[in-house]
Amino acid sequence: MLDHIKTLSSDEFEGRGPGTKGEDLTVDYLTDQFKKLGLKPGNADGTFIQKVPLVGITPTPAPLIFKKGNETKQLKWRDDVVAWTKHVADSASLDNSELVFVGYGVVAPEYNWDDYKDVDVKGKTLVMLVNDPPVPDPSKSEELDPKTFGGKAMTYYGRWTYKYEIAAQKGAAGALIIHETGPAGYPFDVVQQKVTEQFDLVTPDKNMGRVNIEGWISTDQGRALLKMANQDFDALKKQAATRDFKPVALGVTASMTIKNTLRTIDSRNVVAKLEGRDPALKNEYVVYTAHWDHLGIGPAVNGDRIYNGAQDNASGTAGLLEIARAFTKLPQPPKRSILFLSVTAEEQGLLGSEYYAVTPIYPLTKTAANINMDGLNVYGRTKDITLIGLGASELDDYVRDAAGEQGRIIRPDPEPEKGFYYRSDHFNFAKQGVPALDPDSGIEYVGKPADYGKKVRDNYTEHDYHQPSDIVRPDWDLSGAREDLKVFFTVGYRIAEANKLPEWKPGNEFKAKRDAMLKGGQ
Ligand SMILES: [Zn+2]
Repeated sequence: MLDHIKTLSSDEFEGRGPGTKGEDLTVDYLTDQFKKLGLKPGNADGTFIQKVPLVGITPTPAPLIFKKGNETKQLKWRDDVVAWTKHVADSASLDNSELVFVGYGVVAPEYNWDDYKDVDVKGKTLVMLVNDPPVPDPSKSEELDPKTFGGKAMTYYGRWTYKYEIAAQKGAAGALIIHETGPAGYPFDVVQQKVTEQFDLVTPDKNMGRVNIEGWISTDQGRALLKMANQDFDALKKQAATRDFKPVALGVTASMTIKNTLRTIDSRNVVAKLEGRDPALKNEYVVYTAHWDHLGIGPAVNGDRIYNGAQDNASGTAGLLEIARAFTKLPQPPKRSILFLSVTAEEQGLLGSEYYAVTPIYPLTKTAANINMDGLNVYGRTKDITLIGLGASELDDYVRDAAGEQGRIIRPDPEPEKGFYYRSDHFNFAKQGVPALDPDSGIEYVGKPADYGKKVRDNYTEHDYHQPSDIVRPDWDLSGAREDLKVFFTVGYRIAEANKLPEWKPGNEFKAKRDAMLKGGQ
């Protein structure tokens, strides 16, 4: 495992950016490994490759200008504002577009929540807060109401991707999110990575249905903007956590022109197959995924421009290869087939997995489950294993059993407020109805103090997550990852042998889609 990680995260692989020399090297490496294991090409066309057409959009740095009467304020590119356009066009602009603060920008009928009320925001630029509205529990005011937006857990309404989607649906010209480290789940310098080339799937409307300009402004600039509008950030934020909130016209306009450099590339998902032994069930699939891409070469940090992505996600990719190896060592293959799918452009918005999920090689009705690996445990053995979105599907029960046989327990996400269920590739399978598992490292380390797990995790998030310093460290201990991989192997194997396909649990948001799909598929 360590050899794979070292190779994939070496400087030679240049941080594995899609469309770079790093992609060529990575795709060749994975293909070569799968071939050596004696696996079959995973694509029905006889190759190990699924082409993923992407458009790369590089914005030219530009200031964002706020204007109120004669008063103007210029926000500096990257330091104060990170913005882009998804329009596949040479440029996009905001031209004295009126700014409207829309709180959390959420429309959620199931929670009887609408931040827009009847206000028409067409052509305007929305200023929004990140995460879900934090609604206090009516009985315990210091806690969040578990019945509204999942309490402490982040729902999809809290994700930045949702904010730009709803802004587009409302016909807005622009959407600016005020960054805050706590609610976002990561510091502003993670947002600042987005000043480089960003990729998107090539859509028929060239993304013209999106708002002209999407972006983030720093906390300080968000506060300053509201001050300029004679508003108080904290007071508005408090109002925004109530159902009575109404949009607030700020009396300030925004102007910005972003020029683009465009290129289209075919990036690649790499896919290998172990054919099942049962004549009928071999047409059903258990799909393991791990994204191979990372951020490539970007802005220098301490003189280093290569974002090696050792944990994220050379480690998961190495895990995928080792699980594949384990399957080839079985005396006979399982009844169902196993697909090993290493997807591209996860860091660009889960694009490779989205492409697979909407353009699958094998029908999703025949896809039993997805098991995703994104960032393995490099700190030693744990007594537990975390399941993001615990309670979603019967896959949890498979993990509980397999972990139990190792004397370990499963636990829910310790940081549900960060919305991890929406932040890696399994989400695209879930969105399409396929039961999908998002396991994560445990937090209770064998022979370590109780706070060790949180410490190493926070340290990684703060210093190395999406930074050039995400590299292989001499003190890594992969014994915990090895145990986790055994669990993932066992889970996939047992699903591939089971009498029936795993299901979503009642009440899950994706269950209706799966039930309809399977009914239609019969
Ligand atoms: Zn990742």
